[in-house]
Amino acid sequence: MELLNLHRIVDVTAAEGPGVRCAVWTQGCSVRCPGCFNPQTWTTRGGFPLPWPELAARVLAVEGIEGVTLLGGEPFDQAEPLGRFAAAVRAAGLSVMTFTGHVLAELPPSELLASTDLLVDGPFLADRPEPSRPWVGSENQRFHFLSDRYDESIFTTPNRLELRIAPDGGIELNGFATTEVLEALLEGDRR
Ligand code: SF4
Repeated sequence: MELLNLHRIVDVTAAEGPGVRCAVWTQGCSVRCPGCFNPQTWTTRGGFPLPWPELAARVLAVEGIEGVTLLGGEPFDQAEPLGRFAAAVRAAGLSVMTFTGHVLAELPPSELLASTDLLVDGPFLADRPEPSRPWVGSENQRFHFLSDRYDESIFTTPNRLELRIAPDGGIELNGFATTEVLEALLEGDRR
């Protein structure tokens, strides 16, 4: 099975994990946390199809990135093709960071899990917002260092929010921000 169902790809970002990375959002999430910031990724009917070898070729052509971050949606809903993609880019020297709404103990073995260097697990809990760690939305979510590629020094990375303005005037945000921060940003945009 080669086909991925994807929501979005950002070739270069410094807001979705350690260093500069390519970020890939999958389409479709079976976890469905109340208060999720990406409910548009829940349905499997949206998104766009892409065979994993084409995604790998695109990512490996991007210069200057140290790895790939896989976000959802729920990446493990597509563990088979995404695992092949992750294994391919990792074999080429990139690191793989994967977010999941499941907890690690409940994930069955998969090539995606085996090819992940840094796993962030657990559902988003709207009533337990994360006060300090970068990239995560709630304090229950845990970082698992599944290889020696990363360690706790990543927590010195500041939380970043990237704002891009497209030629058509559309605004794209990367990184995690609370509703209050987003409202303050949008208020500034209206002035
Ligand atoms: S796992 Fe992620 S995308 Fe899915 S509902 Fe939870 S926060 Fe949203």
